[in-house]
Amino acid sequence: MEDAFKGTSDMPIQDLAHLWLQQLTPTLSKYLTFAIAVWLLIWVVLAPFLKPRKIRDSTPYASQLLTELAISIRSMAIFAVAGVAILHLERLGFYSLQPLARSWGALWYWTSLVATIVVHDAYFYWSHRLMHDPRFFRRLHRRHHRSNNPSPFTAYSFDVGEALLMVVFFVVWPMIFPMAWGVHGLFMVFQIARNTMLHCGYELRPARADGRPWLDFMTTTTHHDLHHAQAGYNFGAWFTWWDRWMGTEHPEYLARFADRAWRPIGPQPSPQVGDSR
Ligand SMILES: [Zn+2]
Ligand SMILES: [Zn+2]
Repeated sequence: MEDAFKGTSDMPIQDLAHLWLQQLTPTLSKYLTFAIAVWLLIWVVLAPFLKPRKIRDSTPYASQLLTELAISIRSMAIFAVAGVAILHLERLGFYSLQPLARSWGALWYWTSLVATIVVHDAYFYWSHRLMHDPRFFRRLHRRHHRSNNPSPFTAYSFDVGEALLMVVFFVVWPMIFPMAWGVHGLFMVFQIARNTMLHCGYELRPARADGRPWLDFMTTTTHHDLHHAQAGYNFGAWFTWWDRWMGTEHPEYLARFADRAWRPIGPQPSPQVGDSR
């Protein structure tokens, strides 16, 4: 971020385009790396061994995956515009907390990453619920839900309005919270990795002996898959907290998770639950 910022004064249009490409490239490579790796590994190489972990009986057609890829590229083009805006806003002094964040050292570096994930989870939960308001859904969030049965390529399959709502957090949060740009970069890796896995269609989180997920406070693929199947539940991104606090967790979430998840210890799941998915 800071390297790209050098030399942005009096920028002609071709330099702006260059800067935009500089912002697009890392986001695009991360998305493609995770989407292709997860697709290749889980959907192709390991698919025969992971059949009991597959959440739905059906598999999306290739045409859905290609559409999601194309729409995700459009979202990333929008994110790159926001990236260029951040560079200009930094020049204008909007990110004055940067030196402070760096001066607080390594402990703050990692604390600020955790805090950013927790705050973003709240932002996502509430903005996501807002997008499901009938007044906004068609304009902001319909595209994402066209993937009723998601895939590793669904991660950034957003309407333009949703892409803007998602990226505004990354523009504004570093203005009001002291976080180093390195933390910003790490958070982007975290979110695309988890985002891809939440849409991967296979439940890979192990279950405890009682059938609940290991790290039950974190969302699972089943959790978000249920949101795509029945949109009135499971709005959370990274944690299960907000859905539990607000009573929006799908009533069958834990049963469906237990039905698909690998259980290293304890009784194995009964086969009758959830085959209608
Ligand atoms: Zn989704
Ligand atoms: Zn939704």
